[in-house]
Amino acid sequence: MTERGHGSNVKRIQTEATFDLSAQEFVIHTPCEDAVKMYIGNAMHGNYAAVFAQLIVDGRSQGPHCFIVPVRDESGSLYPGVTAIDMMYKEGLHGVDNGILIFDKVRIPRDNLLDKFGSLAPGGQYYSPIEDKSARFNAILAALTPSRLAVTFQAMGAMKLGLTIAIRYSHSRRQFGPKAEEEVKIIAHQTQSLRLMPHLATTLALTFASRYAGGLLDEDIFQGKELVDSRPLQALVAGLKAYSTWENIRCLQDCRECTGGMGYMMENRISGLKCDTDVFVTFEGDNVVMLQVVVRELLAQYTKQCQERPLASWLRSWAESGGDNLRTSFLAFTANTVGALTFLLKAVNFRERVLQRGLVARIYYKVVTKKEDFFGAWNSCLHHVASLSLAHVHRVTLEQFYLAARRCPEPEHRALLMKFGKERDRLERLPQKNKEKDTEADPSAFCRLHINKSSSPVEGDKLTPGASSKEETGQFCLLYGTKLVFQERAWYLEHKYLTPAASTRIRSQLLDLCDSVKDDALRVISAFNIPHAFLHAPIAGIANPRATWAFYPAPLRPKPAAKL
Ligand SMILES: Cc1cc2nc3c(=O)[nH]c(=O)nc-3n(C[C@H](O)[C@H](O)[C@H](O)COP(=O)(O)OP(=O)(O)OC[C@H]3O[C@@H](n4cnc5c(N)ncnc54)[C@H](O)[C@@H]3O)c2cc1C
Repeated sequence: MTERGHGSNVKRIQTEATFDLSAQEFVIHTPCEDAVKMYIGNAMHGNYAAVFAQLIVDGRSQGPHCFIVPVRDESGSLYPGVTAIDMMYKEGLHGVDNGILIFDKVRIPRDNLLDKFGSLAPGGQYYSPIEDKSARFNAILAALTPSRLAVTFQAMGAMKLGLTIAIRYSHSRRQFGPKAEEEVKIIAHQTQSLRLMPHLATTLALTFASRYAGGLLDEDIFQGKELVDSRPLQALVAGLKAYSTWENIRCLQDCRECTGGMGYMMENRISGLKCDTDVFVTFEGDNVVMLQVVVRELLAQYTKQCQERPLASWLRSWAESGGDNLRTSFLAFTANTVGALTFLLKAVNFRERVLQRGLVARIYYKVVTKKEDFFGAWNSCLHHVASLSLAHVHRVTLEQFYLAARRCPEPEHRALLMKFGKERDRLERLPQKNKEKDTEADPSAFCRLHINKSSSPVEGDKLTPGASSKEETGQFCLLYGTKLVFQERAWYLEHKYLTPAASTRIRSQLLDLCDSVKDDALRVISAFNIPHAFLHAPIAGIANPRATWAFYPAPLRPKPAAKL
């Protein structure tokens, strides 16, 4: 797909596939230097390439289409007209070569056009079920949705691995401590849990949100629904891809720093993971471009609603806006609820709503009132676009985390979660020195996801961090929501959704939660069920004869209780 001249802007690629009627063939050609295919995975060894090119019939381009082009024979020799150049060393992903492909009038049969969205009759008549060229192009690109979701899962895999290594090491490495006493585990340093626990909560949240997206994708496939008809799903996956891959980079950097010099050693995996996954933010669609996919869909839905039911939409928007104004006028009375998950769910909903209203108003003013061209208007709002897009993904992710914790579909897991809720209370009453032993023997090792009885994500009971009541919900879920609001506290203060006092409480809540879940974190990473053979980092307690100097005994070994 990618060319030297065009990466994100695939529509403008220049490789040509010209139909030769008499030979019933396409001629694949690279017309200029900007049209050479770049970064192509497996370009140095593959036998076939799926090449995106402008389909040209009778001198007219029908837009980018995909063609299967044989590039090498069985013995690995390039076919005439194909040139492949290795792009050499990269930051990571050394197991795959990436190269340049150049085509000099390479002929392929007419059948090699992947013709789901555009076909060519033997007589040269072009037919597409989608008349509009832009819509057709979007339909072709919709095929990237599953691989974008796959990148999200890969990013989560790297986060789970990095966190497992960093958390295990943090529970066995000791530095500093009270005078004349044993030094404390480094996880006991406040900044250590503050750097690692929010990433763990985010990883859990992303796990549930991605499973939700995967479930929707499965449903569509089983029902024979075309991906092109699931625009909201395409947008959700684009947003999750951007969010998860950025979170992965931040998470691995913190894991690296939290494991000190040991984390920098290749034997301990984290630096390799960082190098391999850095590019996730760029390939399968640059993240900033992905954020725009999300917002285009949000605005399309908004416009559709307004066109279909103008009065109802106007009334709803008016009511929401009035409600938001009221809410922000009486903040002082709600400040004490920041510990409630419902408050956090409402806060992320509020942020998304306000950002969306603001963006619609901005674009309307520029395009309709000031008659600016759409590209210029959109470009001058990109910062807001990116904020809205992430706010949307944050909201969906928190809601999915909440719903997953509440529903917990499998009775066995639900029982484990409930049991762990009770188990924790019992453990807290035990003397400190017995705790680890007891935890090791606990077969219900899982994570602290207490179940909320409320039925709606934004309505329910107030929660207090660490409270042990029947209204408890997941501490990690609460931590994730707290992190989301904490990281945007300047915005919430600007919009008077938080008072300075509430903002201070959010900070204390974040610190308290990070501290309270730091021991449970061992159970959560154990529930990731990463086999030792894949973990193989000596600082995570996996001995390696090549690097005995890096070995740290595993802090504890709870039996894996469930998979996350
Ligand atoms: C290791 C690796 C493997 C790859 N494998 C393949 C492969 O197998 N096949 C393939 O076809 N491609 C592959 N790619 C290419 C990859 O998909 C592109 O690099 C990616 O789409 C970005 O394109 P670009 O590099 O041209 O960056 P550009 O599109 O030039 O982007 C550069 C910068 O400009 C910004 N930008 C661009 N457009 C906008 C916009 N509209 N709004 C705001 N900002 C914008 C981006 O955010 C980015 O920061 C691979 C790349 C790498 C590094």
